[in-house]
Formats: sequence, structure tokens, C-alpha cells
Amino acid sequence: MTTVIRKVTVLGAGVLGAQIAFQSAYSGFDVTVYDVDDDALGKAQKRFGELAAIYAAEVPGAADGKAEATAAAVRLTSDLADAVREADLVVEAVPEILDLKREIYTKIGECAPEKTIFATNSSTLLPSDMKDSTGRPDRFLALHFANQVWKFNTAEVMGTDETDPAVFDRVVDFAEAIGMVPIPIHKEKAGYVLNSLLVPLLRAAGELAAGGYATPEDVDKVWQIATGAPLGPFRIYDVIGLATPYNILSHGDQQAQHIAAWLKENYIDAGKLGLATGEGFYRYADGK
Ligand code: NAD
Repeated sequence: MTTVIRKVTVLGAGVLGAQIAFQSAYSGFDVTVYDVDDDALGKAQKRFGELAAIYAAEVPGAADGKAEATAAAVRLTSDLADAVREADLVVEAVPEILDLKREIYTKIGECAPEKTIFATNSSTLLPSDMKDSTGRPDRFLALHFANQVWKFNTAEVMGTDETDPAVFDRVVDFAEAIGMVPIPIHKEKAGYVLNSLLVPLLRAAGELAAGGYATPEDVDKVWQIATGAPLGPFRIYDVIGLATPYNILSHGDQQAQHIAAWLKENYIDAGKLGLATGEGFYRYADGK
């Protein structure tokens, strides 16, 4: 069955879910957002207001009321069955907990129409880990966005060996239609392309600075000057926020745990969590 994607439902209106919903609505899709309760929906509404201000400031053409109209156009609900009833595509962006994701797929598998395509935005789990709970593995795949979708606009599309190639192509087309650069991943790979490259880079940078070989500033300087990259690894730590790399490293081997401890003692415990808190490896004024 070929589904034409017009109605999009996003599950979970946190950091990424809100951005995916906003970007889809901004691109002209009919968007519904589901979150657990009124409190979460209130936070989502606030996020949409913040995104409208960011788009108006940063996205050409968004200032003349289009961003504000987008925030008003997204439909919010805490009724899961109602959220997916008419969806052509569901993008799931709930917390990175496998059992939680499986539970939600079992529920929507029962109440979404047969035509609906399900896509997970999971960063670290494989779609194979969840496909059986969807009840429709041929219409399920991963669609992975990067944080700040309006400017870091990659969308990695990764199916399982059961994903229907026509469904895969539809989702690639959808990604393009919302202004993303779709990147097809031909086989399942934890971390997709982005995190397969980024995680080792951040770890190597951490090893150099935590080991006392070079300062974070000099590590960034070498990377930028010698490769032409716009940001060095420690600037990237700041953009992501130090808490996420800390969590990943603290579950790793001994060397990784040493880097995690260094991050905690020198930065996290001092409230230097990165761009969002105004200081990490660098200081920021007005979130820039
Ligand atoms: P988040 O914690 O900011 O948001 C999660 C949202 O899900 C919250 O609004 C929460 O209320 C809601 N939620 C909790 N339980 C729920 C449930 N049972 N049903 C529906 N909603 C529920 O998380 P996030 O950072 O937006 O991450 C969400 C997903 O996106 C994860 O799978 C993560 O791996 C992925 N992701 C995150 C980033 C990132 O940079 N933050 C980047 C790419 C992908």
C-alpha cells in the first residue's frame, strides 16, 4: 500500500519531538503532537513559542508571521488513539528507553490505521529492537534527526531487513519535503553515520585534554585549522551539552570513565554544562 504523507503525528514533544513537529508544520504538513499529560503539553506549547522566535530570527522568510502561525497550527493532544487516528506518518521521539518505546508501538499498532508508517527518532537503539512490537514491521523504520533541525538538517533514514523499500522511499521523500538532507543508511548500524563519527571524535578529544596533552582550546584549534571544520570537538561538546557525552562515557571502559570523571570534576560540578547554561569549555553571551 502506498501512503501519501500529509498528516504527521509526533509522539513526545521534548527537545527533538518539538523541533520535528515544528519543522514539519512549518513545511506545510498537518501536524498533531502527543505527549503524556497536560503538564507536558503545556511545556510543548512553550517550546513551540521559543521555536517560533528562533525561526523568526534565524530562518529566512519566517519573520513575517509564518513562524508564529506555525506554532498556532500544531494540534496538541494527550489522547494517544486520537493522535494517531488519521496519521499517515508517526514520528516517535519519546525517551530513549526500549521498554517504553516498545509499549508505545504496541499501543499505536493497535489503533493507527493500516496505512500509517511508523518512524523512530532513536539515537542509540536499532529499529530491529522494536520492530516486532509495531505489528507492522514492513511499515517501520528509523528517521533520525540532529538537534536544531532548522540548521543542522540531516535526516538519516534506516530500515530493518523487513522494511518495505517503497515505505523507505516515501520517508526519504518526506524528509526532503520538510527541508532535510535525507541520508539513506543501507544496513542497520548503531549510531547511524553521525554518531559513528562523532562519538569517537569527542572521546579522542577528551583523552587529549583529560590526559594533559593539550588544552581544549588547542585541540579545537588544530582540528579547525588543519581540516577546515567550522567547530572543534570541545565546541561541539558545548553545543550538545556536557551531560549527554558524560552519560555515554561513564558507561564505557576505564579510559572512558577517566574522561567522564574529568568532565564532571572540572566542568559539570561547576555548572559548566555548555551553551545552554552560558558556559562549558567556552563562555557564551545570549546563547551564542
Ligand atoms: P526529551 O526528554 O527532551 O523528550 C521526551 C518527551 O517524551 C517529553 O516531552 C516527555 O514528556 C515525553 N514522554 C515521556 N514518556 C512518554 C510516553 N510514554 N509517551 C509519549 N511521550 C512521552 O527527549 P529528546 O532529547 O527529545 O529525545 C527523544 C528521542 O529523540 C530519543 O529517542 C533520543 O534518542 C532522540 N534524539 C535526541 C536528540 C537530542 O539531541 N536530544 C537527537 C537525535 C535524536
